[in-house]
Amino acid sequence: MKYIFVTGGVVSSLGKGLAAASIGTLLEHRGLKVLLQKFDPYLNVDPGTMSPYQHGEVYVLDDGAETDLDLGHYERFANCTLSQTNSLSSGQVFENVIKNERKGKYLGATVQFIPHVTDEIKDRLKQATAENPDTDVIITEIGGTVGDIEGHLFLEALRQFAQEVGRANVCFIHVTLLPLVRAAGEIKTKPTQQSVAKLREIGIQPDIIICRTEHELGEDNRAKIAMFCNVPVPNVVAFRDVEHTIYECPLDLRKDKIDRLVSDVLGVESNTPDLSKWESFVERLIHPEHSVRIAVVGKYIELQDAYKSIYESLTISGAEHNTKVEVVKIDAEHLEKASAEEIIGKVDGILIPGGFGDRGIEGKIIAAQYARENKIPYFGICLGMQIATIEYARNVCGLAEANSTEFNKEAAHPVISLQEEQQGITDMGASMRLGSCESIVFPDTKSFEIYDKADTIHERHRHRYEFNPAYREQFEKAGLVIASVSQKEGLVEIIEVPDHPFFVAAQFHPEFKSKPNSPHPIFSSFVKAALENS
Ligand code: GLN
Repeated sequence: MKYIFVTGGVVSSLGKGLAAASIGTLLEHRGLKVLLQKFDPYLNVDPGTMSPYQHGEVYVLDDGAETDLDLGHYERFANCTLSQTNSLSSGQVFENVIKNERKGKYLGATVQFIPHVTDEIKDRLKQATAENPDTDVIITEIGGTVGDIEGHLFLEALRQFAQEVGRANVCFIHVTLLPLVRAAGEIKTKPTQQSVAKLREIGIQPDIIICRTEHELGEDNRAKIAMFCNVPVPNVVAFRDVEHTIYECPLDLRKDKIDRLVSDVLGVESNTPDLSKWESFVERLIHPEHSVRIAVVGKYIELQDAYKSIYESLTISGAEHNTKVEVVKIDAEHLEKASAEEIIGKVDGILIPGGFGDRGIEGKIIAAQYARENKIPYFGICLGMQIATIEYARNVCGLAEANSTEFNKEAAHPVISLQEEQQGITDMGASMRLGSCESIVFPDTKSFEIYDKADTIHERHRHRYEFNPAYREQFEKAGLVIASVSQKEGLVEIIEVPDHPFFVAAQFHPEFKSKPNSPHPIFSSFVKAALENS
């Protein structure tokens, strides 16, 4: 097993996750089996309890782990399917250490940062290795910036780990920023030198330096960084701002042959990558033949990262249909003050994403009604499915007081409500219905066609409230189609409105399962319907 550790220097938001994911793409195309992993130094046990304002989207894995959105990049850029083992925070590390101490597992020792906390971090690398024995290379990204107090223990753990497994089996990659001082017209390498010096203080000498730069790196800067940072000149790699799409990142890094450098550092045999499929995917993104406008009606619309996987899934599905998907971001609350006609206007599709809390709910219900009545393709995801259910109850079933008990505990018609096992839960962390489960898709539904006549599907969940089964018959009598239910509990998974070009809403999150050249089937069908509607 070989290990790549990706650290960041100078500033945050450098695209370290994209760099790690892109290296994954390239190594995979060289024929290696790759696994990606993220270590986040913050103290939350997982990002599940963090606000989207703090953290962007919470990305959910098959096993129900609530993780950083970088894991979304990892799963989209590489073929791996990740698990809780691939996502570690300081919160988890300390939680485990304290639990072990209380259990007396340290046999009377004084429990210390080194070795007990660093051992716990190293264990996660060993666990990932043990769970995925056929992996050739594990890429582990360390969140934060070198020099942060909270990241120190992670770096110390990596230093120890590299000694234990043998330095030749490890490649340290440091991603830094080369700022341009405009007045002097010069790209500056000093912050990079200093952040590498910080790494060396801890005992880590990077093997490769990836330089984020808006401009050409230049041979002189390459040589300077190589000299001050103690690496060969070719190991200083430029990572430019991509022009059109993040899926260009692997192609950009390939220009400096990062995949070959990494293979050489690690001493692994691998082939020159054939990137033709990836390139043609990128080509379709950059030069699409058609275009559609899709309204995403949400509550965190001003945040770029809150609906990350949804936007990526739309983009990926667009490429499938040679179509540019232009997302029209609509703040649900605005719909409460003016007509849908005015706010949404003419779009080719409407998507309502997941969400929590009652802000903007009535606006979303108006958007669902607008889509249903005007026969605009509609795709509801999680909360977007619950919204469609409430709208149908109020305006088709005649249950004017219908609501979810999340928004009105006393609702006269709680068409969305808590299942018994969710009642009385007070701890917020990891207590929702989470992760993948098997569901049945009924024949004679649109979903059955969408899923290519599959009887069963596996999709990821993250929610607390459910379609209330007490109302199922009433809904079906009023025409609503229940297209899928969970195998075990019979919980409603997909609803459809018939006599409509496309009105599909799912209780699960299909956005977590789109990959380049392999969009999720509901997303792909939705974009196709939008294209036909345009
Ligand atoms: N708030 C809703 C629930 O908890 C929907 C959650 C979501 O959209 N992820 O059931």
